[in-house]
Amino acid sequence: MPDFCPRCFWLGEHMDLPFERGFPGIFISIDSYTKAVVNESIRRGDGLPNWLAHIGQVKSVSEPTYRKFGVILEGVRLDGSPDALLQMDDASYIVLDYKTARFTPTQDKLMPVYRVQLNGYAMIAESLGMAPVSRLGLVYFEPPEPAQKDVFNATAKRLTTADGFSMPFTPRIHWVDKNFDQIRKLLRTAMSIYERNDPPAGEKGCQDCERLGKLVSFINSAGDVS
Ligand code: SF4
Repeated sequence: MPDFCPRCFWLGEHMDLPFERGFPGIFISIDSYTKAVVNESIRRGDGLPNWLAHIGQVKSVSEPTYRKFGVILEGVRLDGSPDALLQMDDASYIVLDYKTARFTPTQDKLMPVYRVQLNGYAMIAESLGMAPVSRLGLVYFEPPEPAQKDVFNATAKRLTTADGFSMPFTPRIHWVDKNFDQIRKLLRTAMSIYERNDPPAGEKGCQDCERLGKLVSFINSAGDVS
């Protein structure tokens, strides 16, 4: 990302800082539900749901977990948990990651991260013998557009029942190019920052850095006392 800060990365890896970036629980539930919808359709023998069927004929699907889906590359353990790893009829693999979001300029800005995420999964898959990975896809599940008020209201009415309501999501796929060289380069960069004895300098103009510096000094001095 253009605003990547090596200092923040170093501090995060070397110190037990009392905060972390959480992932809202509601998205974990939606992701799990999406996986169930897609993967159970394949396991039942029905193939991909209609709205993903244009991807091709699927032989099987797996949802590898962090513990098993990892390799050491450039001295760094790279692991992950792709939403779907599809084995296609032509024996190649497709990696998919689901995003519950509308594709907006904000999402577009996150594309460098998503590209690395998908390429990382693909690299792990190929290193573990699941090769070749032929395509990497981000599947956006987009909620209805509130600006189209008529459609929005009609859909809301149609999908409201005595027990609650359903919300439709429209899938939209963005294919991402394979670029393993970039992953290797990033792993080498990560390692070179991590191996430093002291943190690199912070980004100029970052207003939080002074406060972060005080927190780090406080944690270090508390460690000295204990
Ligand atoms: S708080 Fe400091 S270390 Fe964190 S991003 Fe800002 S400059 Fe970097």
